[in-house]
Amino acid sequence: DRIARKRDREFSQFRKRIKDSDRFKVDDGAFDDATFAALYKLVQDGYVDAIGGPLSTGKEANVYNALAGERSLDLLREGEEEVAMKVYRTRATNFQDMREYLVGDPRFEELGDKKKIVMAWTRKELSNLERARKAGVRVPQPLAVERNVLIMEYIGTEDGRAKRLTEVSIENPETAFEVVREYIRRLYAAGLVHGDLSEYNVLFYDGELVVIDVGQAVTVHHPNAEEFLERDCENVASFFRRQGMDVSGDELLAWVQEH
Ligand code: ATP
Ligand code: MN
Repeated sequence: DRIARKRDREFSQFRKRIKDSDRFKVDDGAFDDATFAALYKLVQDGYVDAIGGPLSTGKEANVYNALAGERSLDLLREGEEEVAMKVYRTRATNFQDMREYLVGDPRFEELGDKKKIVMAWTRKELSNLERARKAGVRVPQPLAVERNVLIMEYIGTEDGRAKRLTEVSIENPETAFEVVREYIRRLYAAGLVHGDLSEYNVLFYDGELVVIDVGQAVTVHHPNAEEFLERDCENVASFFRRQGMDVSGDELLAWVQEH
């Protein structure tokens, strides 16, 4: 009982510290009590040591930078000391859309209320990251999930997050295109379609292209999988056309399905 009270007190202090911290002034209700509890658990479990500033604030999730805890340090590559923390909103989120991406996926059959859907979504992103990684696609290494919070490898340096393809000038579009094309093929061969693939969800880091934002990725069994694949191919082709290449979405789609 004393231990429980002490734990409650520590949790209150933890929550107050985050709430008062300047960095979280941008927080517009992404952190409800259950989210604080999830963050606290991730700290207790050694995945996170200290929460840093926001890398991105979006409609569905905010992404923060954080210091890796002991457990994460064990899992990360030598020298990596930071993690990225993606916090899905349990409130203002468009959960009807989420539901549509979850139905038909045998990994996530039981859907309940809104909070449960967001939690399933967060686990789905972790699970998709694992699957992509196993398929040989460079993605942030998934580390942990707790409720609506996903902890993964931070892609970037001390100077800041890695740039998106939209934010860099690509020296060699042909090579970049071939890498992205191969990523789409490997994902597809592993039974996944990204579903929101574009120059916004590919980071350029340390000479590598890193695919992010795989929460909405669906298995090839999803009723809209083909349509999503087509759209991904068109987005990618259209970006590389603007880089001066002569490529079409249809050609890319055909290549992916033939190889
Ligand atoms: P948006 O709606 O802006 O696309 P989102 O909810 O789709 O946001 P993500 O695309 O996963 O979320 O992440 C938003 C941004 O946060 C990314 O564009 C990227 O700049 C940054 N980011 C996400 N994950 C990482 C990571 N692991 N390491 C570094 N930066 C990251
Ligand atoms: Mn994104």
